This record gives sequence, structure tokens and C-alpha cells, in this order.
Amino acid sequence: MKTPKLLLPFLFFLLIIGCSKDSANPDDGTLGVDKSANLKALGASANELLSDAKFTSLTIEVVYVTGFKPTEAALNNLTQFLSNHTFKPDGLTITTRAVASSNKAPFSIEEIAQIEKDERLVYTTGDEIAVFIYVADGSNENDENNKVVLGSAFRNTSVVLYGKTIENISNNSNSTAKSDLESVVLNHEFGHLFGLVDVGSPMQVNHEDSENEAHCNVEGCLMTANIEFGGSIIDMVDTNIPELDDFCINDLAANGGK
Ligand SMILES: [Zn+2]
Ligand SMILES: [Zn+2]
Repeated sequence: MKTPKLLLPFLFFLLIIGCSKDSANPDDGTLGVDKSANLKALGASANELLSDAKFTSLTIEVVYVTGFKPTEAALNNLTQFLSNHTFKPDGLTITTRAVASSNKAPFSIEEIAQIEKDERLVYTTGDEIAVFIYVADGSNENDENNKVVLGSAFRNTSVVLYGKTIENISNNSNSTAKSDLESVVLNHEFGHLFGLVDVGSPMQVNHEDSENEAHCNVEGCLMTANIEFGGSIIDMVDTNIPELDDFCINDLAANGGK
């Protein structure tokens, strides 16, 4: 029979085309948009975010579920934090946009990643690196009574804030403003995107918390673990919004930041 012989090379050809397309854009459902630069592991873009060697500007797309818009004060504090620690001579841009609820709360991180795939519009291109922040209308599904997750940096340029959890904590506190709590969580998650602690920005001196991977062991530092997991965080925010300690700053400086 002749037909199988003719079909074989044709099928083989299709297979190769299919594979090469998949490997170029592993998560791409949008024609013409190359998302590959934004689908890397946490910390993989630390140097690219901190320095101006490859990207001279930074754009942040904040997508929030209606009713969970971050405060202006928190976004202003984030801008200040970014200009304190990064070199972006062509500027920082923050855009905000409301979307409808996904109705999926409480969330697994896989569900948050799927929402990012559906809602994210801005990707790294040219000399501009892009970061996506999603403010969710619910909590993380692994929350326990005395240990709740306020936010998470889950890929090289992807962050989620659990807006409902942040709101609940500030509502239950007489002294902690929602804007202060948002500021701390936003800055902390950016610290992770910047490769802290020892996930993308190598430690210059050992200061990793032995019980909490990727966190700092210096009391009062922005990168201590209790900021991501609510707890004594209200005590810290009551007095002032925590900053990075010298060990964390030195790690950023060694990796192209300041
Ligand atoms: Zn953390
Ligand atoms: Zn630190």
C-alpha cells in the first residue's frame, strides 16, 4: 500500500511544528503575545528587576476585584520602595484596573495562576519589564485560625494579595490602617521578586531564617516571615512600616540593585 508511506513524513512534520511552538510559549493562549519572559520561577528576574542592564523601565499592572482597589497611599509607598532599591532610569509606571470576581475563593495558587492567565494584559517586552499584581476577593485555601497568608510572590513577575484577608485584619484592629498593611505586604512580595532571601539574589552574609525558607532572620526586617503570614504583623505595623535591614539591602546591591 502506498498511503502509509506518504502519510508518515507529513505526520512527523506536524509533530515537530507542534513541539517547537509549545516550547516557545508554554502557557500562551493569545496569538502574537510572547509571555515566556513572565513564566519563570520566583527570583529568576531578580537582577532584571533591580538593575538597568537589560530593562530600563518597570511597569506594574495592578488588577483588583471590584471593591478591593489598593489604597493610593500603599501604591505611593510601593513606588518609593521601588525607586529606593532599583535602577530604572526610564521610569516606573503603575496602572490599576478592576475586574469581576472569579467566584473561586478560597484560592489555591494554581487558581490564582489561572486567573493571571485570563486577566493579565501587560508582559515584558523591549527594554520594559512588567509585573502583574492581582488583588483577590478571598483568602488562601490553606489559611488556619492563627496563621493566614496575606500575599504571595508565585513567579518571577507575579504577585497575589489576599485582599479579603488584609481587610479582615485591618477591620479587627483599632490601630492598623489598611493602607499600612497593604504597603507592608506589597513591599515584602517585591522583596521576593528581587530574590530575597537567597532565591535569586545570593546571600552575601548568612541571614536566612532557618525555619522559614526565603525569609530574613533579622528582627524587624521587612523580609521576616511573619509579614507574609499574619500574626505579630500588627505589632510591627503599629509602630512603623518595616524596611529592609542592611543584610537584605546588601544582597540587592550585590545583584544590581541598591
Ligand atoms: Zn515572604
Ligand atoms: Zn532582612
